[in-house]
Amino acid sequence: MGNPVDDAAGRQQLIDELASGTRRFHALPPGLGAEEAAAIRRAALEQKLGVDLTKLGDFALDAAQATDRHCENLIGAAQIPVGVVGPLRVRGHHADDDFFVPLATTEGALVASINRGCSAISAAGGAVVDVEDVGMTRAPAFRTSGLRQTRELLDWVESHEAEIRAVAEGTSRFLKLLEIRSYSIGTTVFLRFRFASGDAMGMNMATIACDRVVRELIEPATGVPCVALSGNYCVDKKPSAVNFQHGRGKRVQAEVVLDADILRRLKTTADAILEAQYRKNLIGSIAAGSTGYNAHFANVLAAFFLATGQDPAHVAEAAMGVTTIEPRPDGGVIASVFLPDVPLAAVGGGTALDTQREALAILGVEADPEQPGAAALKLAEVLGATVLAGEISLMAAFTSQDLADAHERLGRASES
Ligand code: ADP
Repeated sequence: MGNPVDDAAGRQQLIDELASGTRRFHALPPGLGAEEAAAIRRAALEQKLGVDLTKLGDFALDAAQATDRHCENLIGAAQIPVGVVGPLRVRGHHADDDFFVPLATTEGALVASINRGCSAISAAGGAVVDVEDVGMTRAPAFRTSGLRQTRELLDWVESHEAEIRAVAEGTSRFLKLLEIRSYSIGTTVFLRFRFASGDAMGMNMATIACDRVVRELIEPATGVPCVALSGNYCVDKKPSAVNFQHGRGKRVQAEVVLDADILRRLKTTADAILEAQYRKNLIGSIAAGSTGYNAHFANVLAAFFLATGQDPAHVAEAAMGVTTIEPRPDGGVIASVFLPDVPLAAVGGGTALDTQREALAILGVEADPEQPGAAALKLAEVLGATVLAGEISLMAAFTSQDLADAHERLGRASES
C-alpha cells in the first residue's frame, strides 16, 4: 500500500488501527496535517463508538496552532455561544471608557442579567475600579532533615536573594521577582515565589524561573531536595486562605453608588437589597463555610474567561471574594466587589487563538511592548466592573420575582 497520508486505503488503515487500539491517538504519522489528523481521530471514534462527530469537526480555529500549542490529540472544537453586554461605563486607571464585553456561556438568562447590571452601572456614572498587580506565584516544596536544616535553608535563601533574583529574572525579560514567602511545617518547607509577569498570566514563566532557581542554586548550595516544583502552597486552581489573604494574579475591586431611582429601575429598594445581601452573601456564606461571600462571581468569571482565552480552571480560585452593599443616607446604596485572586492574561495561553483574540479586540485589549502589564490591567478593570454588574443585577433580582421569571423565559437556572 502507499503512503497513509496520500491514499484512501492508507487513511482507512490508520482509522482501523486507532479504532482497534493497535495505534495510540497521539501516534499518527508526523507527515499528516493537523486537520487531517483530527479528522482521522474523529473517524476512528465514529467507527468504534457509532457516534456522529460532524459538528465537532466543523470549526474555525487553526488546527495546526491548536495542536502545537494548546491541545494534544485534537479531534475538533467545542463551540460556546458568545453574547455581548454593554455599554458598560468603567472608571479605572487603564480602562476609562464605555465597553462592550463578550461573554461565552450556555446559561440562558446570564447575559441578559449582566446586561441589566451594566445599564444600572452606566446610569450611575460608571463603576470605579482599582486593580493591584499582585503577581503570579509558584511554591516549590522541599524536604529537610528537621528544624535545624529548615532554619539553614531559610537563612540561605534570605542571604542569597539577589542571586536568586538574577537567575529567575534571567529566564524572561517580562519577569520580576517580587517576594519569596516561606512557610514550614515539620520537615516540609515551602518557598512561595511571587512574580510580576507583564501581560502574561505567568504560570509557565514562574514555573520555568522556579525550576532554574531550584536546580541551579538552592539544591546544590543547601543539599535540600525539592520534592515538588508546585507544592500546593502557590496555590494554583484551588480556593485557599493564602491566596485570599495575600492575593494572586490581579487583586480587583470595583464599586458603584446606586441611588433610589436606579434601584427602582432594578425593581428593588435599598432595604430589600440590603436584607438580601445580609442574609445571603453574609450569613448564608458563613453558614456554608464558603470562601465566596458573593452571589455569583463564578458565572461572570467563567463566561469572561472562556470568551477572552483565559484558563477556565482559574475560576476555582478567582471566584473567592466578597460583595458588599451598604446604605447611603439618600435611600441609595454603595455596592462593591473584592476579588483577591484573579489570574489574567492579555498574551500567551488561550489568548493567542483567533476567536479569543477577536474578543479581546472588542475590549480594545492589546499588549504594548512599551508598557508591559498595562493591557492585562485594563482587562482586569473591565472584568471587575462586569462582575459588579452581575452581582447587583442578581441581588436585585432576588428581591423581586425577576429571577424566577427570567429563568422561565430565558432558560434553566444558572445563578445561585
Ligand atoms: P504563561 O507564562 O502566562 O503561562 P506563556 O507560556 O504563553 O504563558 O508565556 C507568555 C509568553 O509571552 C512568554 O514567552 C513571554 O516572553 C511572552 N510575552 C510577549 N509579550 C509579553 C508581554 N507584554 N508581557 C508578558 N509576556 C509577554
